Amino acid sequence: MSMPDAQDDGPVTGGGGPVLVINAGSSSLKYQLVLAGSGEALASGLVERIGLEGGHAQHTVTGTEHELEREIPDHTAAFEVLTAQFAEHGPDLAGASAPVAVGHRVVHGGARFATTVLIDEEVLGTLRDLVPLAPLHNPGNIAGIEVALQAFPDLPQVAVFDTAFHQTLPEAAHTYAVPLSWRQTFHVRRYGFHGTSHAYVSRRTAELLGRPVEDTNVVVLHLGNGASACAVAGGRSVDTSMGLTPLEGLVMGTRPGDLDPGLPAHLSRVAGMTLPEFDHALNKESGLKALAGDSDFRTVTELRAAGDAAAALAFDVVVHRLVRHLGALALVLGRLDAVTFTAGIGENSAVLRAAVLERAGLLGIELDHDANDTVAGETRISTADSRVAAFVVPTNEEWEIAREAAQLLAGQSLH
Ligand code: ADP
Repeated sequence: MSMPDAQDDGPVTGGGGPVLVINAGSSSLKYQLVLAGSGEALASGLVERIGLEGGHAQHTVTGTEHELEREIPDHTAAFEVLTAQFAEHGPDLAGASAPVAVGHRVVHGGARFATTVLIDEEVLGTLRDLVPLAPLHNPGNIAGIEVALQAFPDLPQVAVFDTAFHQTLPEAAHTYAVPLSWRQTFHVRRYGFHGTSHAYVSRRTAELLGRPVEDTNVVVLHLGNGASACAVAGGRSVDTSMGLTPLEGLVMGTRPGDLDPGLPAHLSRVAGMTLPEFDHALNKESGLKALAGDSDFRTVTELRAAGDAAAALAFDVVVHRLVRHLGALALVLGRLDAVTFTAGIGENSAVLRAAVLERAGLLGIELDHDANDTVAGETRISTADSRVAAFVVPTNEEWEIAREAAQLLAGQSLH
């Protein structure tokens, strides 16, 4: 695949210029125009219900939200809505706020992409080859890239992979003990996801600790609708809870996380369940939704507080799985400097953080309850005496993607 030359007389991309960050899914397209240098979002928005009835778009600029209802049959139409929103409400994509690059979030880069890459036809072809590894995610990402290439043919466009940060996993950590032909022919191995978030949050954690990234060991708990834990040693991912697909590991909104691999055969025997049915149930009907009847953690927390027994069990299962993974990843690291919570649940649920960290005394973490209950932005939630620190760090995947894009174009890839 082609790599750009070191920056010479092109646009000032290595600095802090605006990058249009695109996160395209099968039925939604999220975007942010973000300054790569400071992380400031000049505008952000969402086009949703692509290809469904009741298309909806929302564009936020200088704190004001602009809503739009319109049928959005495909990704081309979604991108037309995006450019129309910018044209009507600003900032001016053709003027002072013209992006220097487009950064695309791509979920699965397989073992082919260990870094951010400039998108060309060859890269697009490889992304299409990778679709079987991520059939639910990569087609939407690719559709977003294709329409952005048409809309901004003169701008450099880069792909930033959720998996790339985890390409540093040692072989022992990424190898499944399955037949050689599966591993060789079908690329069956652990890949890991949420890499941009784990990279950003682990780096910020080192900065908050005042330690060099190269000498900081962190477990990052990214807890959103999807959730994963990552052991980061010296700025490199050395183990993570998600695997070949984003199903493995922690309990999530609609995914179960770790399971006995004997389950599909068992359900096939006793219930005649087919693989597509099983796949659907594991992606859409499991996790919190299966245990508490709702995939939204805030709702589960409210139900639990109101005395709902199923929600209480769901909460306990989530916490138990987190404690189990945290303990394992701490041992993988050998020395632990900090545990950091991020994403919707990690940033907002004091009760969840407390439930996990109260059981992490063995690791040398002492929770500061007051700090945990009054988190605002980046916050240390362990006591001053705590041997190992604990933090909340709001993730910022858009900024990380913009930085990656700017650094690649400046000829100094991060990895
Ligand atoms: P995604 O993976 O879709 O990006 P987010 O990082 O936005 O997800 O996280 C969404 C999750 O965060 C939801 O389960 C939501 O209920 C939860 N969440 C958001 N705010 C709170 C809160 N105040 N308390 C508990 N959970 C919350």
